[in-house]
Amino acid sequence: MSYQFNWPVYGHYNQLKFLQEAVLQDKLANTYLFYGPSGLGKKMVADLFVKSLYCSDENLKPCNHCQNCQAISKGTFLDLHKLGDREELTAENVRDFLHRLSLSRFGQSHKIAIVYGLGTINLFSANAMLKTLEEPPINTTIILIADSIVNLPSTVISRCQLLKFMSLSKKDMSSWLENFDFSAEEKETISNFSFGRPGLALKMMEDKLDNFKKACNFIIKLLSGNRFYYMQSINSWFELLKKEYPDYKVYELGNLTKQYLDLLEIFLRDLLWLKLNRPLVNELYERDLQAIANTFDKRKILENLLSLNKIKQKLNRNVSPQLLWENIFLGLK
Ligand SMILES: [Zn+2]
Repeated sequence: MSYQFNWPVYGHYNQLKFLQEAVLQDKLANTYLFYGPSGLGKKMVADLFVKSLYCSDENLKPCNHCQNCQAISKGTFLDLHKLGDREELTAENVRDFLHRLSLSRFGQSHKIAIVYGLGTINLFSANAMLKTLEEPPINTTIILIADSIVNLPSTVISRCQLLKFMSLSKKDMSSWLENFDFSAEEKETISNFSFGRPGLALKMMEDKLDNFKKACNFIIKLLSGNRFYYMQSINSWFELLKKEYPDYKVYELGNLTKQYLDLLEIFLRDLLWLKLNRPLVNELYERDLQAIANTFDKRKILENLLSLNKIKQKLNRNVSPQLLWENIFLGLK
């Protein structure tokens, strides 16, 4: 066979090679388990794998034009069954799904089932699944997709062909980011903040980095040490949060502010890197950081990083998050 694969995927070389080999040889395992953190492209790879198996084009797989490819794209392909994309994986849903899967159709073509979100499955649902994995229906391949397998019973894992997905390398991330219209500095920053996970990068890019930049500007103002501005912004920030989430408990409000704390931590570390002449995570803000670098010495930065960790733990408890944020400022100067 001489067809080419049309899989626009970055990274995951071994995983792709393994799956394409299965397509070429038309030899499938009963059950695959794709696992690894969200945002790596596991769903996309599963879709390309399935499409390539059914695609009737002789040169390109998938061609995206043949009848099968189009039916799969539209979600009307009869031999492909999906669970967990929209509905929860309750034991009842899992049993229903597996029952439907076991009903054979005339023609007996090969069926494929994709089950998403397996990482959050409970024990009852997992047990419902196990019976099918132990006695797989004939002519059926099941692809399980999970962000994590720590909560999956080993009885389930041991019956699967495992495919572990990992973060993309920096090089793969930058080739992928070539497809988007952002400046080189912005791309570098997006790459650094998404930890090799295209899904996270897409979330950042959704609003053209608007939310990200707003948050960064807030942190920079905080680090620049304008006390009046700072106390005022903290105050209006929490007024807004309380209005928006009137039913939230104190620690729940605190959790909402946690991502800003993470960002502050990255800024502080970047300040330190700047002093040590090492490459920054947040390249976009290098100039802003340079402008304030003189007001911080290394020891002070380290102290602040340590106290941030303590503040993070306190945010989970019933301590007023506004008070904590006010204290952060006092600690910085
Ligand atoms: Zn096709």
